[in-house]
Amino acid sequence: MSALARTTRRVLTRRGVVWLGQTCNLRCRFCYFQTRIEAKDHPEHPFMTLDKAKAICDTLRGHYGNNAIDIQGGEPTIYPGIEELCSHSAKIGLLPTLITNALVLAKKDACQRLKDSGVRDLLVSVHGLGQNYDDVVGVPGAHKLQMQALENCVAIGLPVRFNCVLTKSSLPHLADVARLAVSVGARAVNFIAFNPFEDQQKGERSLDDVAAYSEVAPPLIKAMDILNAADVEVNVRYFPLCQVPEAYRKHLYNFQQLPYDLHEWDYASWSWTDMKPQRMREGGLSPLISLRQANFRSPMYKGVPDYLTDQSISLDDEYRHSALIRAREHCGYRETPACLACGVRQICDGFHGDYAAFFGPDEAKAIASPDATVGPITDPRHYISGQHKIVEPEDAPWAL
Ligand code: SF4
Repeated sequence: MSALARTTRRVLTRRGVVWLGQTCNLRCRFCYFQTRIEAKDHPEHPFMTLDKAKAICDTLRGHYGNNAIDIQGGEPTIYPGIEELCSHSAKIGLLPTLITNALVLAKKDACQRLKDSGVRDLLVSVHGLGQNYDDVVGVPGAHKLQMQALENCVAIGLPVRFNCVLTKSSLPHLADVARLAVSVGARAVNFIAFNPFEDQQKGERSLDDVAAYSEVAPPLIKAMDILNAADVEVNVRYFPLCQVPEAYRKHLYNFQQLPYDLHEWDYASWSWTDMKPQRMREGGLSPLISLRQANFRSPMYKGVPDYLTDQSISLDDEYRHSALIRAREHCGYRETPACLACGVRQICDGFHGDYAAFFGPDEAKAIASPDATVGPITDPRHYISGQHKIVEPEDAPWAL
């Protein structure tokens, strides 16, 4: 594996994703797939066959040109063919990451086998520490196993990054999660606002779990300071730009910014893998679809004459259109009254779906355009271009 480099160049990601099936060894309260994990008879619950998973990988590499992949379950380390899938994926030039709770890797030989299979790195879900972690994931002893797994990764040189969901109960622990990331040499930490995606859209969310942005911001900023001081990359997903001071906005990735993070998913291939046949054990694969075709299915673009053939629409435009569809249509993001006067309105998603119903829109504060002669900011890379992100030269030489 080549050495890490840092870059401020923001290019479109070529990372794909596969969901092997919503089977998991934990029961996180905020899981996007909570219902499917619980319901054994849900068509997306059982793991798919190894042949089907390999066929998805082949398509991501061969048709969509992806060069990396996030493999997730449910929990991918309990997938019976995980080592063979990682090895197949690496062999075809699709560098594999597992999005995992890592509990299985508390056994050192399992950790070593996974590394030997060719896995590139792990994105470990660290949603809290100690008893708090056990409580949010619903399994006693889970934290202890996760710490052992991280120790094993360090011992055998398997790189890790962290995901941490900003649920209310995790807020007192963010600084310690950041310190843990520093101590194990995590390459990046992603803090993810608790969102109304997938199974979380069904109105079961409550103030027990969802925190106000103003409640999240102070501990989040403290955690970012710890990571910045240690030169660990930190990203915050789905957090309105006005909720942190300008110096921290380079770390904020909303739907308009996500395609420019090499560790996030390519909207083009994601539009295909997100279709039900690619998430189910039963049945074959869907016909392929381009990002432009996927956008055209949305009411936002279906009525636009010549949308499918318009040569003036650039690739970056297609990704921006997809971002808008994902935020507004798929996830119910809405603009607040303050957004209407905001200078960054075109690169921000606004407030997430059910948020205003919980807390109202008053936390939103319009950001003045930095230069009245230039007008509003329209480039989604405006802030994130100031962030030094890690990149492995073998991963994306074009990003350096
Ligand atoms: S568009 Fe709205 S939510 Fe986004 S920064 Fe501006 S005021 Fe805040």
